[in-house]
Amino acid sequence: MPNTRQTTIQCVQCHQPVRAVVRSLIDAQQEPDAKVQLLSGRLNAAPCPSCGAINTVMTPLLYHDASKELLISFVPMEMGLSKDAQEKAIGELMRQLTSNLGNSGFKGYLLQPRQALTLQGLVEQVLQADGVTPQMMEAQRERVRLVEMFIQSPEENLPALVQEYDAKIDAEFFQTMTMVAQRTLEEGRQNLAHQILETQNRVVELSTYGQQMIAQSEVQEAVVQEVVEAINAIGPNPQRADFLNLAIQYAESEAHLQALVGLTRQVFDYAFFQEFTAKVGQAPAEERDKLAALREKLLEYCALIDQQSQMAVQQAAQLLEALLTAPNPDELIQANLPMFDTLFLQVTAANIQEAERRQDMATSGKLKAVYNKVISALQANMPPELRFINDVLGAETEADAGALIAQHVQEFDARLLEALDAVEAQVGANGSPEIHQRLAFLRREAEGIFG
Ligand SMILES: [Zn+2]
Repeated sequence: MPNTRQTTIQCVQCHQPVRAVVRSLIDAQQEPDAKVQLLSGRLNAAPCPSCGAINTVMTPLLYHDASKELLISFVPMEMGLSKDAQEKAIGELMRQLTSNLGNSGFKGYLLQPRQALTLQGLVEQVLQADGVTPQMMEAQRERVRLVEMFIQSPEENLPALVQEYDAKIDAEFFQTMTMVAQRTLEEGRQNLAHQILETQNRVVELSTYGQQMIAQSEVQEAVVQEVVEAINAIGPNPQRADFLNLAIQYAESEAHLQALVGLTRQVFDYAFFQEFTAKVGQAPAEERDKLAALREKLLEYCALIDQQSQMAVQQAAQLLEALLTAPNPDELIQANLPMFDTLFLQVTAANIQEAERRQDMATSGKLKAVYNKVISALQANMPPELRFINDVLGAETEADAGALIAQHVQEFDARLLEALDAVEAQVGANGSPEIHQRLAFLRREAEGIFG
């Protein structure tokens, strides 16, 4: 059933051999990833491990989406196939498709595939079936052109360029830029990807929309800080009722409620909402509607966060995939350090477990190597204060932690207190009582010296 095959081609630029995965049959329902590859121009593209050039393998394509009754064939003109040879190639793919579908999946539209004359034409037919209009496609093409102009512009010209196009710099512009950076990264061009992200930061600072984003995120950060402090004030043994009270206290502020759910999503479980429903039932009539509305809002925020974390997990998985196939993973790690967060490590750990469950030791070995590389890179880049706090938290016994503190605390300065603030905010309500105890211990010692 695999709809891909391996082949070796010669790099167009340096003529070295390049291994490539070739796909000729795309079933959008069965393999949504293949559809994404097609739409993002990565289908049958093989980066050369020697020079980084992107090679594209020419092959006839058959695209199928049963949910839209869509069947499109495409044979690249560059292949120079005769009409007979084209029909034979598509006929072969049709046989493969119908045998995958089995008898029950057969419908009339499968007899007559639509034809696309160019790859772009194929992409446009697929997008149109998704409800993307030609106007939307043109707007996106224009956005990509604009983004490319910014990327190619020398740094000193950026302010003038931003001023000229300020009205066109919006959320979609930045999304497009991020997408271009990500694609560049996946093609193995880390330096360029890094440069694109730097240009993006500059454009954020310079543009009206970017400045609004910065102002907004500063307000959000202040709200998050406020909510973190309220959670910490609950003490070491928070109960569901404490969070319920906090939510009621924040009922009038969506920003605070969102921050609360975002920081402590795991508190808002089935039992929490059961408790909440009971409370709504017991409340005096005049408060009942308000509480019920709050309950709906919290449910909505939980769903939103679950959706976002699912997307973030997918992104982390993609990054992991890129690392596993990168010719030089160390470079990739260095160029993308900020992207290696707790979630990335969790996703990698889950993949290691899964590989071990399958007893696929080769994969689990590769994954472990990647995991260790990322951890060492992160540790090497950690400010010394954070590394120290990490060591204290990781010490086996209370006495070991105390000895570490006594021995090294003098080597630091007031920045240790700032680092402690940051760690405490991050640990928030999720930390165990032991972690909070150790952080408090370290804080007392540090404040005694530089407070
Ligand atoms: Zn090459």
